[in-house]
Amino acid sequence: MSDWDVDSSDSDSVIRPRKVTFAKVASVRLIAEPTQYQTTPPSCRVLGCSLPVDIVLRSSDGVSFGAHANNLAQSATGLPPAEREVRQQSNDEDETEIVQLVESADVLELLLQYTHYQRQPSSKGWCFPLLERLAEAVEKYRLFGAMEVCKLRMEANARIYSQEVLSYAVKHDYPDIRDVIMPQTLSWDLEDIQSTLGDSFLIIAWVKYREQYLKLSTSFPSIDAESSLHTVPRCENGPGWELVEAYVKQATRYPDCLRELPDFQKTFSRKVFLLSRCPKCRDRVHNWEQKINDRYATIKQFASFV
Ligand SMILES: [Zn+2]
Ligand SMILES: [Zn+2]
Repeated sequence: MSDWDVDSSDSDSVIRPRKVTFAKVASVRLIAEPTQYQTTPPSCRVLGCSLPVDIVLRSSDGVSFGAHANNLAQSATGLPPAEREVRQQSNDEDETEIVQLVESADVLELLLQYTHYQRQPSSKGWCFPLLERLAEAVEKYRLFGAMEVCKLRMEANARIYSQEVLSYAVKHDYPDIRDVIMPQTLSWDLEDIQSTLGDSFLIIAWVKYREQYLKLSTSFPSIDAESSLHTVPRCENGPGWELVEAYVKQATRYPDCLRELPDFQKTFSRKVFLLSRCPKCRDRVHNWEQKINDRYATIKQFASFV
């Protein structure tokens, strides 16, 4: 069972990626049930904190964290103590409630730092697996103070962890990140994009988005460079033109072009140095580039299909 399926018996709580809204998420009961009480709670681990501990959060790997119900309530809408207050009326006031959560200790440690009025922890040292789990927990509990940093860090990892970050962006309604990653998905298998997007509406949008690239790639062979701008057929300044021509044709050939097309504007500039000795060949390649770019300019962004 995933973190999001805690209330799976309630159809209203099923979170569909494109339909996540503040009101809907806030209404979902995401915390685990309190499991037991103890009389000697652990102290708060946040450096310099002297607030009294009145609630204990226990991680999935068994580490207990002393916490403060008011801080939790003011920092996040999904964390205790909303349910705790109801339950404590029937329990001894000296006892401290323990709430079992599904997050591991490294995630809880960071989460709790964001519930204190102090400088926020540095995100530089977060490895991606930790960041991914933290970002998920931050969204799940609506810990607003940590959302933006997690979003920025996830976005910074979009090129290397494109599938994971795209899944996060879709699930938590960050279309700006989604659309940045979309060009990378052109070469993905349909199964991969299906499992990542999850939503049939988005999958259809992706098929339409990709279709325009497929059509573009089939049109490239008909866009040739001018035969020559030289007074003699061949360039007298070495094989630069042949190298550039071969490179561009390879970059525009299906299916390789699906990897190249998102960065297509760089295709010519990567190789134009080969023509540095011949102004005629440089003019020739610029003309060719312009013709292809005119066709490329007809491509629409993914968002226009949603
Ligand atoms: Zn504290
Ligand atoms: Zn030349």
